[in-house]
Amino acid sequence: MYANIIIDISHEKVDRTFQYRIPDRLIEVCDIGMPVKVPFGRGDNVRTGYIVELTEEPNWDPDKIKEIIDVEKGLISAEDISIRLAAWMKRQYGSTMIAALKTVLPASKKQARQIHKFISLRLPEREARDLYYECVRKKQKARERLLKELIDNPDDRIPYEFITGKLNVSSQAIKALSDKGIIAIESEEYYRKPIAADGARYGKKTLSDEQQHIVDTVKKDYDEGKRDTYLIHGITGSGKTEVYIALIDDVIKRGKQAIVLIPEIALTYQTLMRFYRHFGDRVSVMNSTLSPGEKFDQMERARNGDIDIIIGPRSALFTPFPNTGIIIIDEEHEATYKSETMPKYHAREVAIELSHLLPDGAAVVLGSATPSLEAYYKAKTGQIKLFELNKRLTGGTLPTVEIADLREELRAGNRSIFSRRLFELMEDRFQKDEQVMLFINRRGLAGFISCRGCGHVFKCPHCDVSLSEHRGGRLVCHYCGYEKARPKICPECGSKYVSSFRAGTQQIEDEVKKYFPDVKVLRMDADTTRTKGSYEKILGAFANKEANVLVGTQMIVKGHDFPDVTLVGILAADMSLYASDYRASERTFQLLTQAAGRAGRGEKRGNVVIQSYQPDHYSILAAADQDYKGFYEEEIAYRDLLRYPPVSHMMSVQIQCKNEAEGIAFATKLRAVMEQKKIPNVVYIGPASAAIGKINDIYRMAIYVKADDMDILVKLKDMVEKYIRMLEDRGYLKNITTQFDFDPVNG
Ligand code: ADP
Ligand code: ZN
Ligand code: ZN
Repeated sequence: MYANIIIDISHEKVDRTFQYRIPDRLIEVCDIGMPVKVPFGRGDNVRTGYIVELTEEPNWDPDKIKEIIDVEKGLISAEDISIRLAAWMKRQYGSTMIAALKTVLPASKKQARQIHKFISLRLPEREARDLYYECVRKKQKARERLLKELIDNPDDRIPYEFITGKLNVSSQAIKALSDKGIIAIESEEYYRKPIAADGARYGKKTLSDEQQHIVDTVKKDYDEGKRDTYLIHGITGSGKTEVYIALIDDVIKRGKQAIVLIPEIALTYQTLMRFYRHFGDRVSVMNSTLSPGEKFDQMERARNGDIDIIIGPRSALFTPFPNTGIIIIDEEHEATYKSETMPKYHAREVAIELSHLLPDGAAVVLGSATPSLEAYYKAKTGQIKLFELNKRLTGGTLPTVEIADLREELRAGNRSIFSRRLFELMEDRFQKDEQVMLFINRRGLAGFISCRGCGHVFKCPHCDVSLSEHRGGRLVCHYCGYEKARPKICPECGSKYVSSFRAGTQQIEDEVKKYFPDVKVLRMDADTTRTKGSYEKILGAFANKEANVLVGTQMIVKGHDFPDVTLVGILAADMSLYASDYRASERTFQLLTQAAGRAGRGEKRGNVVIQSYQPDHYSILAAADQDYKGFYEEEIAYRDLLRYPPVSHMMSVQIQCKNEAEGIAFATKLRAVMEQKKIPNVVYIGPASAAIGKINDIYRMAIYVKADDMDILVKLKDMVEKYIRMLEDRGYLKNITTQFDFDPVNG
């Protein structure tokens, strides 16, 4: 047996491995991620390395391969666990070890600590005064100002910046006084803190019976040494965050730390303050707006026990706490938990794996109003424990939801983008000076077409996902490559309104202004939020009632409560149903449920109008009824029938090449290589052009592989990797890159 080992994890070339023989006595204990002592370089130099691969094949002459001396004993450090986690991610997601290590060791580049300097007086006051009068006589103005400040505040240390700034004393003058022993300059290192608690403390709530039940169950499992995964299914305002706080409290009392993941977009000041007011300075935050220095310091604080809780997006999972005891993933259904660069990991899966790697384990708690099919399926099949919170604790009644049939509108001669019902309710709200949100679902707008007369959508007969329009008027399936010509009239109803839907936020804004010239409109989309802080600015202005209407894309459905919003209009709700991938219905249901939940947060009852060409679609009906379980049953049946995740698993092998023909030839060859293995019950689809077929002149194509067991896919991936490496060693594939994506989330 041989082990491939990395020696220097801080080095650029962490992917460089060195091979060592595993002596018989260590075969049982050596494992991936384990730290070991090895001879390195000349003489009897000994270094610590980490095993990243075990193999039976020597890379070269076996007689020249040195032997591992011993495994490193002692406590397992946060670093050891990170490296084990990286090894797991490399294998599970098919990335290089360096990409995996860079993911788990994000802020490893050392940053200088921030330093504050202070100045104080070293002379007795009498002597200082004499010196001061001397300066006055000699007209040494700068020294005079500095000495006066020090004499007037004998017990204070004066910040250096104050003296060079406000007092306008040069640093040379300060240095001269310091050299003469008149003043002392002290330096103090400190951690950069990205946010400060605002002082207000947050009283602990008495938990409801439902909430207490969750806390008790998790605590009991913890006491019995079980570290489980839990899903809290509860609408917004049902008290999930309060449960998280109680659970974190308990874990901290046990001397452990907590990681809280929230989607970046929800990382608002309000959310953070909930935690800061409870835990004060023991909490910190990680996100993309922090400077490298701030990021580095938060990692140091976690390592050194300066904080117990970190809040952040998916990368916060890799916070090097000495003893993580709980990992919470709020809004676990959010797509941002899936990485779109190699390794294409999902935070949920990595959190569960991390909890297994930790010496004492950690509880994993997922929360959502609209759980991902993955999480709910796991709950239904007994892999994780399910809790439900059914009551809204914030008061406010659930809104009245109506569906407006857009086919009906067309028949009635209404060509406006507002249905008659939505129009009528808008008029009413403007009269009452209440606020309206108009939401356009722009997801999956990659050139789909449909019939505006009957709502018919053109789908792939093999994959049951929408076809999308390509150049030359062809309709194409992104999974299998099936193609057909774009029809001129609808095959279902004969209507000639077969078109792509192109309404955007700008167009909606214009329509509102056309019908209601006096009404003030704010618009939030990719265009209006390009500059930093504009997102908060628009939401702030709307909260201050500076406008009657907020028009926007999915950005407006998250976070923030607007108590005066009593009407939400969802225009073209089914837009995301046309997305050409198997998650289209799930995403539609989640977006509609969230958007509908925006109405009636305050005292007044709210209305929601969902406009749709497919008003009978189960994801629209279930969202209107706020019926998660109904939706789940329909959707899981579809996934089961077509063998999509989470019932089955899917791997996409993505090939990128400048030369289209070369890429297709290689992709076709790859499929043949996989098929040769004759693994039963595995389905191969493609190669076909990827959802975005070409970026920067590089062609992208994909092969999809479906299997009931994730391990089969991982093994197939291993085989493909080996095959690719073999070709690369012979000098082929210079123009081709291959990536893997398991249970893809976007496409
Ligand atoms: P979620 O995270 O599910 O959206 P929160 O935990 O934010 O729900 O709770 C919603 C609101 O209800 C918050 O204002 C919170 O302070 C309040 N709340 C939560 N639990 C309780 C409780 N047991 N008693 C009183 N108020 C509560
Ligand atoms: Zn039709
Ligand atoms: Zn297809």
